[in-house]
Amino acid sequence: MRAYNFSAGPAILPVEVLKEAANEILDYEGTGMSIMEMSHRTKTFEKVLNDAEALLREIMNIPSNYKVIFVQGGATTQFAAIPLNLMSDNKKAAYIETGNFSKKAYQEAKIFSPEGVRIVASSKDKNYTYIPDCSNLDIDKDDDYVYICENNTIFGTKFHTLPDTKGKPLVSDQSSCFLSEPVDVTKYGVIYAGVQKNVGPSGLAIVIVREDLVRDELVFKTPTMLNWKVQIDAGSLYNTPNSWAIYICGKVFKWIKDLGGLEVMKKRNEAKAKVLYDYLETSKLFKNEVEKKDRSIMNIVFRTESEELDAKFVSEAKNHNIVSIKGHRLVGGMRASIYNAMPIEGVYALVDFMREFEKENLK
Ligand SMILES: *Cc1c(COP(=O)(O)O)cnc(C)c1O
Repeated sequence: MRAYNFSAGPAILPVEVLKEAANEILDYEGTGMSIMEMSHRTKTFEKVLNDAEALLREIMNIPSNYKVIFVQGGATTQFAAIPLNLMSDNKKAAYIETGNFSKKAYQEAKIFSPEGVRIVASSKDKNYTYIPDCSNLDIDKDDDYVYICENNTIFGTKFHTLPDTKGKPLVSDQSSCFLSEPVDVTKYGVIYAGVQKNVGPSGLAIVIVREDLVRDELVFKTPTMLNWKVQIDAGSLYNTPNSWAIYICGKVFKWIKDLGGLEVMKKRNEAKAKVLYDYLETSKLFKNEVEKKDRSIMNIVFRTESEELDAKFVSEAKNHNIVSIKGHRLVGGMRASIYNAMPIEGVYALVDFMREFEKENLK
């Protein structure tokens, strides 16, 4: 039986995709081997890679002046790649701090430019339970980019309006909201995501970068693998890529397309999130502390009044086939990650159990 897997990542994938991959694992399209065993220089794998990129471009409506690369090292490796690739001699950038991942990205950028990298807005004062006002940021004329983490996986918040970057390129970590809803790619300089939250296996990141931001000459001495231009020129095949993850992502893109694309994903995701938020609003035992206007529809955090009761909830949830519901260690409580592949039945099962638990445990 499949579990209702609420893991934040690596996370639930569509059962249709897993079955297809299972069917092909001994013999991919008559080649007598699986994609895992195949040279990345074969025509067969090249087609897998090219088809994946083409499908991604189609479902996200990525304009032709944006490059797409599939790179290794997850999202975290890009925390360094971003300043290394985007900074001019100014070496200045503005970061918006809305949680752990934007803080880490900021700290990484500071390694390369301790003076020039600044936090221009933060929600740290209220433990990242909201998105700060970004309508009049202190952007410097020399800033090379403005950085956000668009959906905060750990704290359960999301930018529903993009910051006013005053004309500077916006760099967005979309790891936990990638392909969860339509986005206007033209509003961004760079979109990137570790794929293991909403689209595939771990260890792969997708970087979508506007052509004019790709530098021929980098300001910093940069490891070859982190140089976007090298990856772009090599068509993501500079070295052996994470071929298995690219293959699964391609299948997930196809799954999204066949269901009707990102508009449909958004409707499904909003419907799922509504079931859980509606219950949380009426519950006397569980609470969600996130500012309503800034709620994530991908990661929903909640807690009871005590850590003991939270632990009891997590433990008893397993008997209801509800797994990986424990909150991140920085926040405690619970977190339901309800990515694209989570069926609404999983959310119904969770809310049913929460009601039952509330009845039994409310003093
Ligand atoms: C998980 C996550 C990361 C880190 O991803 P890795 O692939 O583990 O490096 C970065 N940003 C966000 C928003 C995430 O959710």
